[in-house]
Amino acid sequence: MKKNEIYQTEITGMTTEGNGVCHIEGMAVFVPMTAIGDILEVRIVKVLKNYAFGIIEKLISPSEHRISPICPVFRQCGGCVFQHVNYQEELRDKENFVKDAFTRIGKLNPVFEPILGSDTRYYYRNKAQYPVTEQNGKLVCGFYARHSHRIIPYTECHLQPESFTHILNGLLPILEQCHISAYDEEHHQGELRHIYLRKGFHSGEILLCLVTRVSIRKKINPHLKEIQEKFPEIVSFAESVNPQKTNVILGNVFHLLFGKNFITDTMCGKKIRLSPQSFYQVNTAQAEKLYTIAKEYAGFQGNEELLDLYCGTGTIGLSMADSVKSLIGVEIIPEAVENAKENARQNHIQNAEFYCGDAGKMADILTQKRITPDVVILDPPRKGCDLLTISSVVNMNPSRIVMISCNPSTAARDAARFAEAGYTTRKVKAVDLFPSTSHVECVVLLLRKA
Ligand code: SAH
Repeated sequence: MKKNEIYQTEITGMTTEGNGVCHIEGMAVFVPMTAIGDILEVRIVKVLKNYAFGIIEKLISPSEHRISPICPVFRQCGGCVFQHVNYQEELRDKENFVKDAFTRIGKLNPVFEPILGSDTRYYYRNKAQYPVTEQNGKLVCGFYARHSHRIIPYTECHLQPESFTHILNGLLPILEQCHISAYDEEHHQGELRHIYLRKGFHSGEILLCLVTRVSIRKKINPHLKEIQEKFPEIVSFAESVNPQKTNVILGNVFHLLFGKNFITDTMCGKKIRLSPQSFYQVNTAQAEKLYTIAKEYAGFQGNEELLDLYCGTGTIGLSMADSVKSLIGVEIIPEAVENAKENARQNHIQNAEFYCGDAGKMADILTQKRITPDVVILDPPRKGCDLLTISSVVNMNPSRIVMISCNPSTAARDAARFAEAGYTTRKVKAVDLFPSTSHVECVVLLLRKA
């Protein structure tokens, strides 16, 4: 197989990145923006040892699952990969991603419960971080083009609340009046790197945070009243200074420009305070359903000690605190731990404690203090749990472990490690928190063997 060759073929599978898969001369070829069932001519663009990449040369007979994408920049943007297929097909593919991970990577044989789809496929997110640049002397913001750091100006993302578009379009001219320059990633110069917006799904409260290389506080001060009057929904306006040459968005230094240094939302009936640094699930409506499933999986009788590792602002544990004897939460970001403590207080939850630290190290310390939770919740970042976390949890000997994960591959790897230590993977349920994108969440129940 060589570059630029053209083959007629059929798409028969989908990768977890959302590329269609076909097989040509015994080799897997990945073709973006295709759908299972497409019959097409593929032009080979890159050949590697065990697989190749192609692009659509000609769509001969489109898949029955295809629909028209609603977003005009769908093809340039890397964010959505499923806009051109109907939602049933997206859900079927995501259900398969999760099944595949647990059976192939984990070599496990749990019960797979049907995927839980979302009621809304668009406008579901509550957070966005728009990179900023200058074009023709004007400040613009948008998104990175597929596999690149080139910014395509666009403020109407169909996954974000429409109020974000309104704020961006009103804010950019004010920032220009303040003579604020855009950050130039290549030369590490300029001021404004990202515009970060977050909205409480139930409360409607908005956080606006400008991520800068050097502080722009002095420049923006004369315009604060104007911004506050123009956008009364912004209850928190902050600056995060990030002088580093890095892909990490937020810096360590925060300056409050007006309002509170947090926003408030409600999750599973509990009032939740969120600092800009704290993690918060981006799809609140689906996250509430996810946590409800996790609670069902935990099967509380009312007398359990619960440990919530990677607890963020405490959302999961606090949604279960009324059903258990006691709750301990562990989280590495200090501001999130402060939020979690305040969240317990403001919801009159008295059986909860929160600790700041690394999940594995803290679990190890808790084991040494002879803390023996009956149920452990694990909700790690994409890279999953490290070995210390797994061994510490095993040493605590809980009867049930509920894993929540945004990365089925690492969840399956971790479930397999728990299997070696005597925990059976009983059931797995995929939950679609990120419609239109390639991402999917899953809940996993592990039971200690008798
Ligand atoms: N359970 C929370 C947060 C889940 S996201 C919720 O549902 O809202 C994962 C969380 O793990 C983040 O808050 C992140 O800050 C935290 N985290 C990342 N690495 C960690 C580590 N090594 N130890 C403890 N927490 C960690």
